[in-house]
Amino acid sequence: MRPNGIRRVVIVGGGTAGWMAAAALSRVLGGDPTLTFELVESDEIGTVGVGESTIPQIVLFNALLGIDEGEFLRATNATYKLGIEFVDWTHIGERFIHPFGFYGLDMQGVEFHHHWLKARSLGDETPLQDYSLNIMTGLRGRFGHPRHDLPNSPLSKMGYAFQFDAGLYARLLRRLAESWGVRRREGRVVDIEQDGETGHVSAVRLADGRRVEGDLFIDCSGFRGLLIEEKLGAGFEDWSALLPCDRAWAVPCEPGGGRLPLTRATARAAGWQWRIPLQHRTGNGYVYSSAHVSDDEAAATLLVNLDGAPIADPKQLRFTAGHRRRAWIGNVVALGLAGGFLEPLESTSIHLVQTAIARLLTLFPHRGFSTLETERFNAELAQEYRDIRDFLILHYHASGREDSAFWRDIRALTPPDGMVYKVAMYRENGRVFREHNEVFTETSWLAVMAGKGIRPAGYHPVADTLPDTETLARLADIRAIIAETADALPLQDDYLRQVGCDLTPVRRVA
Ligand code: FAD
Repeated sequence: MRPNGIRRVVIVGGGTAGWMAAAALSRVLGGDPTLTFELVESDEIGTVGVGESTIPQIVLFNALLGIDEGEFLRATNATYKLGIEFVDWTHIGERFIHPFGFYGLDMQGVEFHHHWLKARSLGDETPLQDYSLNIMTGLRGRFGHPRHDLPNSPLSKMGYAFQFDAGLYARLLRRLAESWGVRRREGRVVDIEQDGETGHVSAVRLADGRRVEGDLFIDCSGFRGLLIEEKLGAGFEDWSALLPCDRAWAVPCEPGGGRLPLTRATARAAGWQWRIPLQHRTGNGYVYSSAHVSDDEAAATLLVNLDGAPIADPKQLRFTAGHRRRAWIGNVVALGLAGGFLEPLESTSIHLVQTAIARLLTLFPHRGFSTLETERFNAELAQEYRDIRDFLILHYHASGREDSAFWRDIRALTPPDGMVYKVAMYRENGRVFREHNEVFTETSWLAVMAGKGIRPAGYHPVADTLPDTETLARLADIRAIIAETADALPLQDDYLRQVGCDLTPVRRVA
């Protein structure tokens, strides 16, 4: 047995975070016969019920769990996602896409976009998106997997994620986790017991009197943070002054308006609206600032901007942007909404669950709890939140909109240094840097900065080692190859049907 006797892992909460943790921990550590895994959840309380759009790292998570992609698509009514389409964010009537893949082809040892900037200086106004296979494929409603076996093809540089029904995903993960030995306990946690000496949580008590004892507790209890905040008082790093959206209305509707493999985020007068096309329905929500619009008006705005009839009543969610100051305290680690939340503009919450699980696995306290390791966990997580926050703020700050108090107020906020630095670097000579392994790469920052119409004053001088005519000819070739490749890929709907998905739309029950 281990010196510290960590044997019982207890997960509190069975939303997406809870079941992701249960599945990943039991998959990776389940072979250790001295460890047990229990998950406590309460049907009475339910889950947040949203969280349908992801980023490409989810593919790795599913692979870790050995989930077959066809099975996943069928089980969760999922569609593919090649990027996010931003509508009306720069000015009303303008749109751009943040793709999960690279632009063009690096040439002469410098990134492609320097050649694109040079072409612009020569008068070629072709938008950056024409050099993205992800975007060109997405706009055609097509889909293709990355082909790493074809290094010279633009297909080798594609990336993709999924859009899925979060409830069905949790169900799939639950089935897997239970098959790997996780024991589920239904019940409402009403009390949390602490060891008088160490301060460690020793057990959670359920409403019916049962006690669930553990050595390591994973708090996946949602926004309240039952253990991490309510019991241990972790403290919250509140960023609502920088990201003032604090509420959302969410409603699914009948599908309509096409099923492109893209999530859409449309800027509205007091926030923005998401549109997530699944196989059988479309997920929608209006994320807004309650200081700038009433709840009723926000709900009305959402309902008049749907592709089809709503198939449920709108559900309201309230939140505060930010994260727990310490997501790991003693023997409690908070994941998911219990750990923090940033608005879903770039679909990062499920990813944050994933990276927190990966960090927990890396630092798994098999020999006892080490302050050095928990501090490492907390510092990395905080950095990750800061990086994502800066990227989200870019979307607002770099907007040209002045048409409502919300846009005027948000653009007047002082942006964080990280974002200011990145934009300044790009403005000067088109240089984009990725800091401390942040989730959003150079391509992501470039996509949004270029999409927002930020024009650098210069570009890398190496781009000038190609004669002007050759630069323009090569760029035209790249565009043509990308368009041809996109045209040759199958339609997403055909692809989904081919792997056995049922695309029958859900209709509103009268
Ligand atoms: P929850 O779903 O709230 O689950 C909490 C669990 O704890 C439940 O099982 C509940 O029953 C249990 N629980 C709570 N209290 C008790 C108790 N006393 N006793 C027993 N059990 C208890 N993420 C993305 O990645 N992409 C998106 O597009 C996206 N969109 C979002 C839109 C909005 C408006 C919001 C608010 C979030 C969005 N998210 C998105 C975030 C995503 O929904 C969450 O990160 C994800 O669902 C994880 O939630 P969770 O499991 O932490 O919490």
